[in-house]
Amino acid sequence: MRGGTVWTPDGRRDVDVCVSAGTVVAVEAGAGPGAVEVDARGLLVLPGGIDAHVHSRDPGFPEKEDFASLTAAAAAGGITTVVDMPNTVPAVENAAVLAEKAELASSRAIVDFALWGLLAGGSTPADVEGLLDAGAVGLKAYLGYAIRRSNRQVVYLPGAADPDLEPPPDYGTVARAAPDLARRGAPLAAHCEDPGVLRAFDRPLHRYADLLAARPALAEAVAIAALGVISQRTGLEVQVVHLSSALGLAAARDASRAGARIVLETCPQYLWLTDEDAERLGPPAKMYPAIRTPADRAALREALGARGIHRVATDHAPHADAEKLGRSLDEALPGSPGVETLYPSCLELARRLGDVSAAARWVAEGPARTLGLHPRKGVIQPGADADLVLVDPTAETVVSAGAMHSRQRHGALEGQRFGVAIRAVYARGELVARDGEPVARPGRGRLVRPAR
Ligand SMILES: [Zn+2]
Repeated sequence: MRGGTVWTPDGRRDVDVCVSAGTVVAVEAGAGPGAVEVDARGLLVLPGGIDAHVHSRDPGFPEKEDFASLTAAAAAGGITTVVDMPNTVPAVENAAVLAEKAELASSRAIVDFALWGLLAGGSTPADVEGLLDAGAVGLKAYLGYAIRRSNRQVVYLPGAADPDLEPPPDYGTVARAAPDLARRGAPLAAHCEDPGVLRAFDRPLHRYADLLAARPALAEAVAIAALGVISQRTGLEVQVVHLSSALGLAAARDASRAGARIVLETCPQYLWLTDEDAERLGPPAKMYPAIRTPADRAALREALGARGIHRVATDHAPHADAEKLGRSLDEALPGSPGVETLYPSCLELARRLGDVSAAARWVAEGPARTLGLHPRKGVIQPGADADLVLVDPTAETVVSAGAMHSRQRHGALEGQRFGVAIRAVYARGELVARDGEPVARPGRGRLVRPAR
């Protein structure tokens, strides 16, 4: 790969990248020659993106997404590793389910993938150990979400008592599992919205203001504070996923200062949009946690620029169009696709903050380090997988549903303009997308395990 500006651990350098058998073997001027020469003049060469938070829906909901459509969208957008959440069906609650899911994903994925395991209300120490042994990057706790006994599906905030539901995980579940996770050096990712606060503020959603009132930032802050105390007492690393509010950010900072181990993840929708946009967009912008106020957006942007947030991921959560677009705000399911626009949106935000290549820290190096995938992933240096993204910093990308590859095409960033374009994407040295179109075959992706 010749003539590009390469994002390396030593900063941006005008060097060549030599790749052999899917691995970077040299990063220096005049490296090579290689069997295939790629002209990267005028382009940025960045490490392939890692989306630390996607919902493949596979297995479980093929009408929403599967690993083939998910990873086609990922490849098109410069994401060469997706990290899938465990609320597929059956839920990834033990080693056997994880192994089956890895095999299924391997048969369909275009790019590499890693897997989260589930910490459920009924998880045993053997379940936790087994998931980590089987290669989970960590465990995910959905506070207040139960599991349906009959089909092992994670059920969102159940209301009335239902004998078919197992009790959801709570702070006690986390406290009980924390010492084992800490001993293994494995993180707990948590959906941080306190179920008690959500129940207290629940209401019908006539307009977007109702959704903000029903899912207040307080719910996020309360959950982060409680998990922070558990972290202080046990050494557990808590990864706050999809951080959405200034109040949650403040709670995380307080917890860190008090000795908690907190990793922060936010998403493009919270960095780009506000409640005004969400009101205009309607159901495509319905997600949990909610898209909030301009002050929340400003706080998240500032923290990201100051390296106070460790990674940006999408919470890519597609539904069938009929479950979103044809429904009222109240009836539409929460969640939207985003994996394809992660890198471009972050590049644009980074450009505005003064250094376009800072996006590589947010979506490649940051997730790789916080998930135990570094230095195999997330970096361009000898020995790393040759996951490379060629970016034209002078072109433009306009987000358009018609050009997307997820099964649900209409996302919250529809119509946004980014002053960059992803030209080519290589995954372990193989071209997987060119000018926004996937060109690789399903079934080449592999499970990536954390090194810890
Ligand atoms: Zn999620």
